[in-house]
Amino acid sequence: MAQEKQIDIKKVVRQHAEMDMFFTGGFGLKGESDESLQADSAHGFETGEAVSAESSRGLQKIDDEVKKCRQCELSGSRKNAVPGEGSPSARIAFVGEAPGADEDAQARPFVGRAGKLLDKIIIAMGLKRGDVYICNILKCRPPDNRDPKLTEIISCLPYLQRQLELINPEIIVALGAHAARTLLETNKPIGQLRGKFHEYYPSMTAKPIKLMATYHPAYLLRSYSPENRRKVWEDMQKVLTELGMEVPSR
Ligand code: URA
Repeated sequence: MAQEKQIDIKKVVRQHAEMDMFFTGGFGLKGESDESLQADSAHGFETGEAVSAESSRGLQKIDDEVKKCRQCELSGSRKNAVPGEGSPSARIAFVGEAPGADEDAQARPFVGRAGKLLDKIIIAMGLKRGDVYICNILKCRPPDNRDPKLTEIISCLPYLQRQLELINPEIIVALGAHAARTLLETNKPIGQLRGKFHEYYPSMTAKPIKLMATYHPAYLLRSYSPENRRKVWEDMQKVLTELGMEVPSR
């Protein structure tokens, strides 16, 4: 019992430390250990518990298709396709734009600098990477990290739609303008889209999924102002509140 209490306190301390770093800029991008990223989440999602075997099998099938996909020119320049990863029963799915060089090399989403920042945000929310699902609009890296072309988005989008329909998260967090605009089929600027809930329909028959748009972690790294960090944190607080989860206080 005493030991259980001690573990809880450790979790809370770690979560607060991550949140503090998120707000003070000490992201620890250099030389950080991955230990905290693997640690149990404060919200204690039991990833193994409610996993739907069907969703898991479906996601594996999509992974296999994505890895063989030759539908657009990006398949010619990629090292690896990056289908996505995380819990098949995630309550939150984070959707970014496209893999970068690190993701292309490791075949995993958000593992570079922007990914490290996303990890910090997830931990500050009281979660861990394995609690959520993380993927992108495009599954292959555009050369020199250029913007996705419309033809590439059109070829690739069905994979994401199927992933989201299978996982059926309660909330999608669209990271950045490309993800938000694509999923919401709009040209509005991210500044107008972020901070409020929208609805995303994964298919004609599926129920809508709530979507929160926020700034992309790569944008946050480039425009690293307290105001932008505060806005992202406010967006994530809304996500937690909507899910009925405790919002860590600062
Ligand atoms: N940026 C993205 O949008 N996705 C990644 O996976 C990495 C960086």
